[in-house]
Amino acid sequence: MKKNHRALPNQFSLFWLIFPIPLMILLSGIVSVLYIGSEYRALIERYVAHIDVIVTNMHRENKMALNNIGNCEQIQKSLRYSSTIEELILVNKDRITCSSFEGEISQRVSAYRPRAGLESGIYTFNIPDEYHIQNYIVLDTNPTNPEWSAMSTVDRYYFRALLGYSSDLRVKKFSFHLHRYSQLPTERQEWSPTIFKASSQRYNYSISVEANSSYIWRILGIFILGSLPISVTISLTYCLIAVWLKRNRSMATHLEKGLKKRELFLVYQPIITSETNEVCGVEALLRWKHPVFGYVRPDIFIPIAEESSLINTVTDYVLERALADFKHTNLNKLLHLGINVPPSYLADEENLKRLQVFKSQLLALNIKLGVEITERQLLNEQGQLAVADLHSLGIDILIDDFGTGTTSLSVLQNIRFDYLKIDKCFIDTIGVTSVNAPVLNSIIELANNLDVKTIAEGVETSEQHSYLVAKGVPYQQGYYHFKPMTLRHVLPLIKPKSDDEFSLDTTNPINIE
Ligand code: C2E
Ligand code: CA
Ligand code: CA
Repeated sequence: MKKNHRALPNQFSLFWLIFPIPLMILLSGIVSVLYIGSEYRALIERYVAHIDVIVTNMHRENKMALNNIGNCEQIQKSLRYSSTIEELILVNKDRITCSSFEGEISQRVSAYRPRAGLESGIYTFNIPDEYHIQNYIVLDTNPTNPEWSAMSTVDRYYFRALLGYSSDLRVKKFSFHLHRYSQLPTERQEWSPTIFKASSQRYNYSISVEANSSYIWRILGIFILGSLPISVTISLTYCLIAVWLKRNRSMATHLEKGLKKRELFLVYQPIITSETNEVCGVEALLRWKHPVFGYVRPDIFIPIAEESSLINTVTDYVLERALADFKHTNLNKLLHLGINVPPSYLADEENLKRLQVFKSQLLALNIKLGVEITERQLLNEQGQLAVADLHSLGIDILIDDFGTGTTSLSVLQNIRFDYLKIDKCFIDTIGVTSVNAPVLNSIIELANNLDVKTIAEGVETSEQHSYLVAKGVPYQQGYYHFKPMTLRHVLPLIKPKSDDEFSLDTTNPINIE
């Protein structure tokens, strides 16, 4: 068969071919934004947890210092190895009485430091030295004697090092906000999708992290580039399906035209009696000679006809063609004619009537009509009802391709059928598997028990022929005996040449498998 035109997707298909790419880019963009959001939320929650630990530690040291008023040496000792607290001072009213740096002192609290008597909490303040370092302070006031308070200081740079945000590529800017007590002007925080915020549940502060845009672009790039192979795969799969559908659709259109132009014709494969080797029947097999594609095999165009609901037209065409072929024959003995009919054809009352008329017309020509229904199609209820209807019309029922389906034995018992065509795959096992063909033997035995005649399909060798004769299979069909051929070549096999008096379309080729 020559190749069909490779159908290219049309504009509509092209749209759908390209469509998955922007769609996947959009989807991966959304996914990456969600991913970035969750990553930054996790990051700032980690920072808050870390700061909470630092502040808790400072409060603890403050409380210990307030319990040790008058024992400055002890306060100094306990803070000697503290990694977070830079300095702790004890304040009484406006005077510093002890510093973890300098020991016992008596010095006025500078204007930049919170005084004793303030509420416990966190404060920010500037140390007025040459560096103008802005530090954080955690203050605790003695609840029983508010004149006394303890203040721990943490250096802002040290605080930054502790959290590690300055070396984190994801963070562009880190801000620490006190809800109250800040002695510095509060920075205005404008909303931005790249700024993530979190507040401490334990203390009076919140933090915000501004995401590094180069990091965000990198993540977006990874997600979008990563989605490209998926979108290309989706596009290609779609393209292949579109091409396949279009090809099938165009094939169905070609078939419809071919039926109208009568490009399809029938060949007949003889069925012989095993005992005598005489031709007792034929199976009508459809052939299509397309003017461009050449011969198209039935196992290609019949499924397409089934999918595109052209199969009933095909069956009507076969009936009409068979009748036209046999119209001028004059057979001197009864010939069985097998026609392949799908059960869907039998669902229509009109088609049953047509078959009845066809059967009568054939009978007038000394031909007995048999309908071949594949075992697979028999499985549904529609198939079984159709078989009963046909039987009542006096048409033979042949179960085709027997053994390839999964018909249960009970179904076989319920259906009244006349012939069982044993599929070629079982005939192929003769002389191959062992001395005998176990499954084939079981099928033959089953048919005998059901009192049904068997036809062996696809007999190709004399060994198979002899085996089937020995097993008592009454009928055979296959290349060993005859290949499918035009009726002109079949007829001499049915009756002696001298008796021939018919005119037929002689342009049909012979031996067309
Ligand atoms: P099927 O009904 O099982 O037809 C028998 C197939 O086996 C035919 O193939 C025939 O040429 C092939 N065959 C017969 N003897 C031998 C053999 O010894 N060796 C080998 N290798 N093959 C053998 P074909 O004509 O190609 O038909 C294929 C299928 O197409 C048929 O299987 C049938 O299911 C379907 N078909 C053919 N014509 C029609 C038709 O008019 N209507 C419907 N509905 N289906 C048809
Ligand atoms: Ca058949
Ligand atoms: Ca078959």
